[in-house]
Amino acid sequence: STMPPLLSAIANAGRRGVLAKSAVVMERLGQIDLVALDKTGTLTEGTPRVTSIHPLPGTGLDEDDLLTLAAAAEHPSEHPLARAVVEAARERRLPLPHATDFSSLPGEGVTATVAGHTVQVGSPSRLLTGTAPPDKAVTELEITGRTAVAVLRDGTPVGVLGIADRLRPDAAATVTALTELTGRTPVLLTGDNERAARRLAAEVGITDVRAGLLPEDKVAAVKAWETEGRRVLVVGDGVNDAPALAAAHSGIAMGKAGSDLALETADAVVVRDELATIPSIVQLSRTARRLVI
Ligand code: ADP
Ligand code: MG
Repeated sequence: STMPPLLSAIANAGRRGVLAKSAVVMERLGQIDLVALDKTGTLTEGTPRVTSIHPLPGTGLDEDDLLTLAAAAEHPSEHPLARAVVEAARERRLPLPHATDFSSLPGEGVTATVAGHTVQVGSPSRLLTGTAPPDKAVTELEITGRTAVAVLRDGTPVGVLGIADRLRPDAAATVTALTELTGRTPVLLTGDNERAARRLAAEVGITDVRAGLLPEDKVAAVKAWETEGRRVLVVGDGVNDAPALAAAHSGIAMGKAGSDLALETADAVVVRDELATIPSIVQLSRTARRLVI
């Protein structure tokens, strides 16, 4: 064909399941030498499930009450953990009261008014400040690789939910392929807790784990590498990943579970829901670049 190499690279990437937004995107992808992967929804399938419900003693709440409060507050959120909580309530056929005054803080959780109470659902390390009983439940969940989510009513902890997500089947092979392409093992950037993140990372051969990160911390990590002369590819799916996707040399969003903001911000979107398409199109971009130069 007489199509310019970078344009045929876009077409090729499309056939492999990746939507690149421009020829410049394909050119830049071929230059990357370090990959930073998000955890939830990127290394994992992004369809987490609630595996246990722990109302705190003395709150008068049973499992269904706790799940109802949490699910009502999470209902407006598009976060994968929020969807897990709402789905668990749906499976138990719990009627959800309507939440008002909803707001969400990326990397932290949500707040809403439910039946006259302020309900917060989110990261234990941000919402619990050394209150003993929930901390014990949180630790027990995290050492088994689960994500613990704290629930507070009017500022008081009332329980913890245990949530589990599965690694993508092609996660380990993708990490190996990216290591071969860049000469450096990818780094994990996550807002989730360190214990669960390290456990999961070890399963795919990642040792450099940055956990408990807010969206701006992900950006700071990317900027620090780029200052050292690295050209970073960030792969993510969440609202919390959007600033890092924008800051990086290249940003790729996972399409299926991805938030609108991540899809809009990224340079390219994985449309076919496979992580292994990423090393494949980095390789493709390199080949196209050689043809251009
Ligand atoms: P990741 O970087 O792994 O994709 P996020 O930054 O999206 O993770 O979330 C980080 C942490 O913030 C989660 O592990 C959770 O504790 C908390 N969190 C964020 N949003 C929510 C939500 N809607 N419901 C519950 N917890 C949340
Ligand atoms: Mg994510």
